[in-house]
Amino acid sequence: MTTKKIYSGIEFEVCELPESQKKESNLQKHGFHSNSCEVCGKPTSGKFWVEMSTDWLCVKNPDEKCFEESQGSFPIGSECRKLFAPGYIKEMKFIIE
Ligand SMILES: [Zn+2]
Repeated sequence: MTTKKIYSGIEFEVCELPESQKKESNLQKHGFHSNSCEVCGKPTSGKFWVEMSTDWLCVKNPDEKCFEESQGSFPIGSECRKLFAPGYIKEMKFIIE
């Protein structure tokens, strides 16, 4: 489900994070890393990212404008990215190991 939000006077489309019920157990199993998938907790390649706002909503097309209420980008696994509508997932052109 998507909704609209105003950040820094700009309207964005946002959606809730489709968090997996297995996230906690996956984080315990694999450990928490800087590349842990924000949806399911499994390690990711660091290729796909979603921008989150300070009220923990996923922001569509965040690169169009800067807004103060951004928490920055969070990693998403290649399977979990399919849970998002087009425009939410950013793909890194290169990966820093
Ligand atoms: Zn995942």
